[in-house]
Amino acid sequence: MRVAVQVADETIEIQEIPMPDLQPDEVLVRIEGCGMCGSDLESYRGKIVQAGLSQYPHVPGHEPVGHIERIPDDVAKLWGVGVGDRVAIEPFVPCGVCPRCLGGEYRLCANRFIYSCQPTTQGTGLWGGFAEYMVLRPNSVVHKVPDSISIQDAVLFNPFGAGFEWAYKAAGTTIGDTVLILGPGQRGLGSIVACREAGAEQIIVTGTARDATKLELAKEFGATDTIVVEETDTVERVMALTGGYGADRVVDTTSSSTQPVLDAVEAARAGGTIVLAGLKDAKTIDGFISDKLVFKDLSLRGALGVSQWAFSQAIRVIASGRYPLHKMHTHTFDLADLEHAHALLSGNVPGEEAIHITVTP
Ligand SMILES: [Zn+2]
Ligand SMILES: [Zn+2]
Repeated sequence: MRVAVQVADETIEIQEIPMPDLQPDEVLVRIEGCGMCGSDLESYRGKIVQAGLSQYPHVPGHEPVGHIERIPDDVAKLWGVGVGDRVAIEPFVPCGVCPRCLGGEYRLCANRFIYSCQPTTQGTGLWGGFAEYMVLRPNSVVHKVPDSISIQDAVLFNPFGAGFEWAYKAAGTTIGDTVLILGPGQRGLGSIVACREAGAEQIIVTGTARDATKLELAKEFGATDTIVVEETDTVERVMALTGGYGADRVVDTTSSSTQPVLDAVEAARAGGTIVLAGLKDAKTIDGFISDKLVFKDLSLRGALGVSQWAFSQAIRVIASGRYPLHKMHTHTFDLADLEHAHALLSGNVPGEEAIHITVTP
């Protein structure tokens, strides 16, 4: 079988290895496709290893969908799936017994095992989606995916799950709300869909001049207004669109830039909620005045990962066919093209723009 192994920063090798010997309780999945997002780029550049969340060598790929090829009877019974079923695989594998798991917050499990982060020296080593086969532990969380949807749509369970988790659940979005979504990437687009499903009235989305195509797509997905940040002041525009009140909810999905955090504080209405979900390379924020949170009675929170409930909503809505998701799919690559895929994701390929990439081994 073929597997992509990241052996160092920005170095992925395609290896040909024998089929793995599984433990009696392990599950084998034949990978059909694996989505890519900004986290893949961070991982490729070594930031996940530098943060102590992973080590080399490991098999990357955290948004996999595949067919179950082998599953022990007791695990099949627990998961409610069988051989041949098509499943989306959650990245976090809960231990099931720590206080966070028992409290229902298994994304925050104290004994974290994360697919795409575990080293190949552990067990079969096949813990990532950039491979022909992936091995699952019996305490994994998987979701059945209808055979009727394309693999490119199916792997969107991950960024769209984030939309439901961050822009709906964490933000507390409800009927009639105005939501400001900072960033029109896949998770921004997923946030638009979640807010529309939740009954938000006004959905305002920001992007840079380079994001023109994504901002067009944002409107097709349900954004009522878009803002190009180099051309229009985000806060002034949000105030103009909300009669001077500001947005009920603000969700920051942008990476690296800290200006959106400052904009969020200014553009949120008094008593509003801000959700920070995009990582900023551990930067401090110049100009951040915490007093503004006090005077505006704001709720500010971070959001890590996605819960089982939110992934389920994403798969349900993807399967509904209500949104023109196919317009997101700009590229489908083989494992051998992973280097090119990462260059595209980082915007380093002149004349070529990626919105969503699927890797099919
Ligand atoms: Zn991702
Ligand atoms: Zn746990």
